[in-house]
Parts: sequence; C-alpha cells; structure tokens
Amino acid sequence: MSFEKLGVFKPLLDAIKDLGYENPTTIQKRAIPLVLQKKDIFATAQTGTGKTAAFALPILQRLKKSDKNAGVRAVILSPTRELSIQIYEDIQGFSKYMDIETTILVGGKDIEKQRRKLRCGTDIIIATPGRLMEHMLQGLYMEDVEVFVLDEADRMLDMGFAKDIREIHPLLPRKHQTLLFSATFSDKVRKLSKLILRKPAFIETAKKNTTVDTINQIAYQVDTDKKAALLAYLIGSRNFEQVLVFTRTKASADELFEELQKDGLKCGIIHGDKTKANRLKTLKQFKEKKLRVLIATDIASRGLDIEHLPYVINYELPSIPEDYVHRVGRTGRAGREGEAITLIDIYEKYEIRDIEKLIGQKIPKDVVEGFEPDPNIRRKDIDEVKLKSEHKREAKKFVKHKSPEKKITAKALKTAKKKRKTTKRDG
Ligand code: AMP
Repeated sequence: MSFEKLGVFKPLLDAIKDLGYENPTTIQKRAIPLVLQKKDIFATAQTGTGKTAAFALPILQRLKKSDKNAGVRAVILSPTRELSIQIYEDIQGFSKYMDIETTILVGGKDIEKQRRKLRCGTDIIIATPGRLMEHMLQGLYMEDVEVFVLDEADRMLDMGFAKDIREIHPLLPRKHQTLLFSATFSDKVRKLSKLILRKPAFIETAKKNTTVDTINQIAYQVDTDKKAALLAYLIGSRNFEQVLVFTRTKASADELFEELQKDGLKCGIIHGDKTKANRLKTLKQFKEKKLRVLIATDIASRGLDIEHLPYVINYELPSIPEDYVHRVGRTGRAGREGEAITLIDIYEKYEIRDIEKLIGQKIPKDVVEGFEPDPNIRRKDIDEVKLKSEHKREAKKFVKHKSPEKKITAKALKTAKKKRKTTKRDG
C-alpha cells in the first residue's frame, strides 16, 4: 500500500518523497483514510511509529490551503515543548509545497511575540495546553477549529493537564473532528476519550503497553554502587556512539553526569531543573553527535525524536512501569532495530516484574563479567543502602557549605535579603 493509494494528494506526496518516506507505517495506513473521512479517532500508537505523519498529513490535506478569512482551523496539543517543536518541524517539512501557516505556542517563549504572529493569521496551532489556555484567556478565537488533536494524551494527563484540556474542549465549535493519540491505554485516557470523542474509530497498532518488536531488551544485574562503572564500561567496550541514559531522579542524573565526566565521556543532561533553552541546546548537541551520552529523566523522555537512535540504557527503573515503554520507545524507531539495556540492582530485580507484567513479556537477565552482583547483599538491606546513599548526599552538601573559601558576595547578600522578605510576606 502506497501513500498515493491512501488518497494522499500531490503536494504532500512530493514533500514526503523529499523526506525519504517510501511506504506508510501501520498507523499511517489505518489513520490517514479515517482522518480524511472526518471521523474521530482513538489511536494507541507508540512513539516512533510514525504517528505524527498519521495525523498531520490528512489534516494538511483537509485544510488544503490558507484561508485568510478564517481563524485557526486545526489545533494540536502536545505535552511538552520538545514534542511540540518536533511536530512543528515535521509539519513544516510536510507542508513545504503548500500554502499553510503554522504557529507554535509553547511556554517559556515571549507570549507577546506569539500574539503578534497569531494576529497575522494562522491555519494550524501546535501548543502545550497551559500556553494555549493563556492565549485563549487573552481572546484567541477558536470558533473556526475543524480538527483538534491530542497527541500523547496519556502523558498530558500524567502531567496534570486534564483540567486545561477539559476547559479548552467546550470552547471549540460543536462540530469538529477530534483525534486522540496515546502510547498507553490507561483508565484516565479512556475516561477522557468518553468526554471528548464522538463515535470514534479505534486504532490499536500495538498490543496494550507492549514494547516495539524491533527492540532487543536485556537487563544486567549489578550492585547499586557499581552501576556507573558498568555503564561507562558498556559504552566504552561496545563502542556506543550515541546513547540515551535514563535515571529516576534529577539528583541521580546529576551524580551520574559527574561520574561519566570523570570517565572522560562527553555527556549532557536533560531534566526539569534545566532551563528550556538549555535542554534544547543539549538535545541539539546530542543529535549532532557532539555529545556521546544524553542523561535524561522521564519527564524529559517524551518528545525526544532522535533519528536512528540505536541504544537506550535504563540506569534506574522508572517509578511508573508505563514509563519503561516510553523510554525504550526512543530506540528502534520507524521499524529500525534498537537495543534497550536496563541495569538492575537487587531491589530492582523485583520491581522489574511490574514492567514485565505490563508489557506481557519477560526481559532476559544477564551479568557482565567483572560486574557480577555481590551474593552477600540481600534485599532486606534496602533501607541500609538507601540511608547510606542519602547520607553520602547530605555529607557532600555539608562539605560544600563549610568551605571556608566561599565568600559572601554583595549579590548573594541582596538575594538572601530578598528571600527573607518573601518568606515574611508569605508567612
Ligand atoms: P513519530 O512516531 O511521528 O515520532 O515518527 C518517528 C520517526 O519516523 C520520525 O523520524 C519520522 O520522520 C519517521 N517516519 C514517519 N513515517 C515514516 C515513513 N512512512 N517512512 C519512513 N520514516 C517515517
């Protein structure tokens, strides 16, 4: 089945040819005709399956060309700024032979500049829910919206955007088409779908919460304190050129960053404490292979589209089993092979069972020579190990504070005074 047979029109066929797309992926084969028929859709599609083109191509075809007399005609909501940018860039590529205006509205960017762009007229908006809400409160007109897309709806709900979505939806015209895409099939998503979809067509391209078939998965058992060394060893000995590493918390991402730097590995970090500009810069450097390792937390994992990414390493298991699916979905994209390696200590050996239950398959376990777990460590030591690592962190902080060389600068004093004022007022 070709894109042509799916009914995709010439300007789009030319554009995707330039992008090197030869055949539609499964989600594209199933979604494109339905979107063209103006049906509502509920699709469970994992990242990397080609879902962006699955909704963007038929939307562009529906809109045909810019209508200067109309307002916004399509709204695409996505959970993160990174994913929004990815969608925006994809749509720019798809619409290069069309006359269509697309605007991106994400937080962290000058809202006035966005308003000026909106005043010039736009056909498509790609936005994060919070920022779209802000524009709507300032009078953004939504009465001409024909298509409303919720991309990675499960993630949006996990990130607390349910209220925004529920507030945005009634402000759309009664008659519009809604396309809901979600990587997982959670109860929350099901509830939302009942609220916003009308007689939807269901598309399930992958089994519930399964990982993509082309990904080889393996878990190496290792002691907690040897994880960083094992990771550096794997990257070096197996010559990993570009590897994405996931940690559970921002603190362990920072610690791992320091460790890997010591090993001479060029790495970057993406997590919630980094500014958006910084996250984008790091991602760009990683994509350009100026960084060999990218350390990320789960919140940052969505929306990272890195082509041909061959390796994902779970340095720690995610706190939510579903995030394992999102993490490993960063590799093996669009039918390519990928490898997902998970490092599990004695405690995670038990936690990984929840993930195996969710994905409906066993992840093979192995050990790496020289990094075999100490058989004397037992699971009941969990609290002791936790305490020890917390103690280590506290001790580090203490050393930093006590440093006699650290002088109080005038600027620091001013900030401290300001802080005190705020505390007083808040109290
Ligand atoms: P997505 O799931 O939309 O994030 O797409 C994942 C990756 O697959 C992106 O890099 C797309 O450019 C690419 N892609 C999407 N559709 C196709 C296709 N039909 N053929 C080849 N690559 C594709």
